[in-house]
Amino acid sequence: MLSKSHALNEELCRAGRRFDARGWVLGTSGNFSAVIDREPLRLAITPSAAFKGELTPDVMLEIDERAEPVGESGGRRPSAEALLHVEIVRARGAGAVLHTHSIWSTLLSERYAGDGGLTIEGFEMLKGLEGVRTHEHREWLPIVDNDQDIARLAKVARHELDRHAGAHGFLIRRHGLYTWGADLRQAVRHVEILEFLLESVGRG
Ligand SMILES: [Zn+2]
Repeated sequence: MLSKSHALNEELCRAGRRFDARGWVLGTSGNFSAVIDREPLRLAITPSAAFKGELTPDVMLEIDERAEPVGESGGRRPSAEALLHVEIVRARGAGAVLHTHSIWSTLLSERYAGDGGLTIEGFEMLKGLEGVRTHEHREWLPIVDNDQDIARLAKVARHELDRHAGAHGFLIRRHGLYTWGADLRQAVRHVEILEFLLESVGRG
C-alpha cells in the first residue's frame, strides 16, 4: 500500500502539471504543500528551484512546524517560502497551501496595492470558493507587500488572515497568489477559481 505522503506527493506533481500548462508557475516559481500529519505537524512540500511541470514524487520534501526538513533531503532545500505555508496551515487549519506567480496576480497586486486588497464580486465563478453560494458574494483579497524576510512576511500575512477570516487567499505585491483548501483538491480548485477571477477583473 502506498503511504499517505506518497499519495500526496503524486497529487502535488499533478497540480504542478496543471498550473504549468496555464503559465502560472513559470521559471521554477511558485510552491505547493500538503499536510501529512498535524501532531506533530508535517508537510510535504515542493523543493526550491524545481520546474513545476516536471515534478516527480521523489523530489518532494517533508518539513516540520519550523519549516525545517525532516529526514533525508538529499541536498534539496524546501522552498524559501515554506514558513509561509506553515503559518497558513496554522491560521486556517488548511490541509494544503498553493502559491502561484501568474501575470494577473502580479499586475493586480500592484494596481490595487494602495487599497490594501481588492474586492471581487458579481461573478458566477465565485461559487467555486468553498462556502460561497451566490455570485453576489463579495470576496476581499488582501494584498501584502513583498518581503525577502520570510519570517516577517509570514507575520504580516498572519495578521491579514486574522483580520479577514472569510478570505480564501491573498496576494503578495508584484509577486503572486497564495490560497489553500481543506485538502489538495480543494486548494487546486481555489487556485483555478481565483486565477480565473483575477484575469476577469484584469481584462474587464
Ligand atoms: Zn513566490
